[in-house]
Amino acid sequence: MTDISDRPKVSRASADGLRRYSIFSLLRNALAHEGNWQRKWRSPDPKPRYDAVIIGGGGHGLGAAYFLARDHGMNNIAVLEKGWLGGGNTARNTMTIRSNYVRPPSVPFHEESMELYRQLSRELNYNLMVSKRGMVVFLQSSAAARTATRMANTMHLYGANYEFLDLRGIKRYVPIFEYPKNPRMEVFGGVRQPDAMLARHDAVAWGFARMADAYGVDIIQNCEVTGILRDGDRVTGVQTTRGVIQAPKVGMAVAGHGSAVAAMAGVRLPIETQPLQAWVSEPLKPVLDPVLTFTGYGAYMMQSDKGELVIGGPTDPYPSYGQRGSFAIIEYVTSVVTEMFPILRCVKLMRHWAGMLDIVYDGSPIISNTPVKGFTVDVAGAGGFKTTPMAARMHAWLIAKGEPHKRIEPFGLERFAKGRLVVEGGVSFNR
Ligand SMILES: Cc1cc2nc3c(=O)[nH]c(=O)nc-3n(C[C@H](O)[C@H](O)[C@H](O)COP(=O)(O)OP(=O)(O)OC[C@H]3O[C@@H](n4cnc5c(N)ncnc54)[C@H](O)[C@@H]3O)c2cc1C
Repeated sequence: MTDISDRPKVSRASADGLRRYSIFSLLRNALAHEGNWQRKWRSPDPKPRYDAVIIGGGGHGLGAAYFLARDHGMNNIAVLEKGWLGGGNTARNTMTIRSNYVRPPSVPFHEESMELYRQLSRELNYNLMVSKRGMVVFLQSSAAARTATRMANTMHLYGANYEFLDLRGIKRYVPIFEYPKNPRMEVFGGVRQPDAMLARHDAVAWGFARMADAYGVDIIQNCEVTGILRDGDRVTGVQTTRGVIQAPKVGMAVAGHGSAVAAMAGVRLPIETQPLQAWVSEPLKPVLDPVLTFTGYGAYMMQSDKGELVIGGPTDPYPSYGQRGSFAIIEYVTSVVTEMFPILRCVKLMRHWAGMLDIVYDGSPIISNTPVKGFTVDVAGAGGFKTTPMAARMHAWLIAKGEPHKRIEPFGLERFAKGRLVVEGGVSFNR
């Protein structure tokens, strides 16, 4: 593999070139076997000083760096990642992208994120395998039906599709659905978001990293932030396992570690960290196109491009930093899935993993300035894969301009002091 770590910083023109010419390099490399493959990003040593550093090399942090360089011309910046890129929740999530939320600030935020996702493969010239699969939500109580109606009303106000289904309608989109014999909870009908989609999760991190690197952003792996430096109420840099780095602006995007990292700056966040797990079956022939969620049980299921059924449920009901979930959740959710789809009883489970979610008390993200000037936070919350491009873009705006874009004003930290919560927790349907 060619070492390109000494390659000179590339400019905006080079980033454009990366977009245009890589189809030819793909062909050339395919014909030349391994010889010409280049690293997707450099691996530079940290500089003593940057204009801004971003803590966390998941989709949110890498995306913020990309948008800072592309939209705001800031390329003397670094992303600091304690492990490897995308090794946190970005590569652990179940890839669902949707906008079925209840509150007015939430729907346009998620809709814009979906629009960004639709363009992102082309923009980054990196195949994110975005596929429109739709989502079918099984309504299993009158409370769920009421929430779905409110959701549909809000979504229609913002031009998003959300349609109600009777049982025959569900069957049309989910042919393997047979009404269960003795369900613990009845199914009254469903709602469908036809525009919901999936994207290859780790490709999102790699695509952003590759293009941010082309703009000159330093992406530094194996570099843990262990302290945040302040001069009075202003941030001045970070202490890391690879030395001190000075920076007048420090952004945090460390889903699952938010309380611990913010505490280094003396900032207390209204979040609690809980494990969330998912698991996959052996690969099957295509049997399921949309993502399914079961409101009565808090469980969900879809089929990946590889044919595996991807299954998940609620978070473990206690705070923990362990990247593993408890067996009770697997047992419970698997019993739900086999109750709803008895045909799947003979399918073997293959693999299981977990991540850590920073659960915000009102169920919405936090993208905000903090009491420490220059220190900003992007707390993705419970379902932050879907918001990755939008949150990253808004965080970049905040870092560059010091003020929030109007789209994220409702998601600031001050909402907790003022009582202006954007309550989505418990009413939105799964991740
Ligand atoms: C099982 C599961 C299923 C999910 N399903 C969905 C879904 O279907 N749809 C959806 O929208 N969301 C889903 N989510 C949530 C989603 O994965 C996250 O909200 C999102 O990936 C957060 O992205 P991020 O870039 O903020 O965080 P991450 O990808 O976790 O990146 C944060 C990075 O910060 C690094 N870091 C932490 N502390 C430090 C430090 N001190 N110094 C340097 N680096 C540090 C970590 O190593 C990590 O790489 C799911 C999550 C899980 C666990």
